Amino acid sequence: MRDDCIFCRIVRQEAHGDIVYQDEEITAFRDINPKAPVHILIVPNRHIPGVFALQPGDESVVGRLFLVARQLAEQEGIAQSGYRLVLNSGPQGGQSVYHLHLHLLGGRPMRWPPG
Ligand code: AMP
Repeated sequence: MRDDCIFCRIVRQEAHGDIVYQDEEITAFRDINPKAPVHILIVPNRHIPGVFALQPGDESVVGRLFLVARQLAEQEGIAQSGYRLVLNSGPQGGQSVYHLHLHLLGGRPMRWPPG
């Protein structure tokens, strides 16, 4: 946990977040600047700066990000229509918050390639 990390602070509920799911390993909350009708960020509770910082032993937590995404897609009613999962890494990957997070986007058609 890092005091200067906004997602760590949301996980600890020290900063406001619209949390839709939380367990001992994973937290999910609505994006503050949604790019789609459903836009949820799924994060490990533990501070991992990004994909580039993953270590052997992190397989389980990474897998759980996807399983929680699948569960939330069902809860949000977009499992049948489809959705997009996005994980940005580093400056040219468009990462702006350096705490690993999976974007769950849905509720409208997604263009490809993204802009
Ligand atoms: P990325 O560009 O992949 O690092 O995505 C970071 C995302 O975090 C962006 O979509 C932001 O809108 C979102 N974000 C930043 N601060 C907050 C916050 N305090 N609560 C919820 N979402 C946030």
